[in-house]
Amino acid sequence: MNIILDAHQDLAYNMLALGRDYRRSAYETRQTEVGKPFMAWTDDALIGWPEYMQARVAIVFSTLFAAPARSVPTEKRDSQIYDTLEQAHQIYKQQLLAYHQLSEQSPDYFRLIRTQAELKHHLEKWQNAPKAKTPQLPVGLIPLMEGAEGILSFEELPMWWELGVRIIGLAWRGNRYSGGTKEPGPLSQAGKELLDAMAEHSFVLDISHMDEEAALQAIERYPGTIIASHANLARLVEGYQGNRLLSDTLLDALLERDAIIGVVPCNSFLRRDWKESGGKASISLKLAAEQIDAICQRAGDSKHVGLGTDFDGGIGLQSVPAEIDTIADLPKLSTFLKEMGYSQTAIEDINYRNFLNMIQSVLPA
Ligand SMILES: [Zn+2]
Repeated sequence: MNIILDAHQDLAYNMLALGRDYRRSAYETRQTEVGKPFMAWTDDALIGWPEYMQARVAIVFSTLFAAPARSVPTEKRDSQIYDTLEQAHQIYKQQLLAYHQLSEQSPDYFRLIRTQAELKHHLEKWQNAPKAKTPQLPVGLIPLMEGAEGILSFEELPMWWELGVRIIGLAWRGNRYSGGTKEPGPLSQAGKELLDAMAEHSFVLDISHMDEEAALQAIERYPGTIIASHANLARLVEGYQGNRLLSDTLLDALLERDAIIGVVPCNSFLRRDWKESGGKASISLKLAAEQIDAICQRAGDSKHVGLGTDFDGGIGLQSVPAEIDTIADLPKLSTFLKEMGYSQTAIEDINYRNFLNMIQSVLPA
């Protein structure tokens, strides 16, 4: 099958904070946003349903994302920023309901996938789509909670599961569960208890934004399925300092647990000084192919890497490699992999099969 599964997109955040309508083309969204005040700090949109179809993106792990007010300068604060835990909880819930609404009102464009049966039905449609033509099919959405700040107590987990959340990352910035990006720290007692409760429901653990110390502790403790939905290797990003990208120690711990890593084709995850060194025009998508290759080399196979673009997650047209105008250009990544000697089967593993098999194994009947 020739499809793409994208393991990380902040669709609901953009829908609620910026009013983006993902049934529209990315170009139409750009038109409607010209001159809007938020464009002073947001890039142009990369995503729209017509462009998903061109790239054959069949499934997206669509996030619930909210940021603590302390992490955002005053002028950039929007409706998806929280001061209190209760607000975080409400934002996650609104975003999840936005996916439900989109799926109910526009099932020809987007459809929530919560069960094996729904996934099977969805894949059959894509399998039967004529190969030579651009498909006209719904994109499947599987909700991923990026940071568990809005989980007020473990008793809520059945509710989130029931509403379709299948993947949870404990932290975005640091929080009471875990150290996070730019706010390092270990897994807390509450974090350990949350993991134990998550395991009872077969949630997938996403360690992407967890601080290395916490991530290593979580990998050790969590008996369930583990991924990094969107993360690149620090080693390949010259001069990188920070705790967002993966060290080889963390990569090895992930591979040991058979985890899958979603590579991010965004400039700041590929080259630290990309702005000074010539900007968008100077960054090639080949660097993302090299990230993929480095993970495959370390793993010794093509079974542990996928794509987690993070497109439109505060990252848009101006901050992605030169070859990318919209998500329609994502398949160009396969061309680089082919040139590097990857077989069609390996490319399909990376484009969708690894993450698809992973999620298939945890969905309820
Ligand atoms: Zn993220």
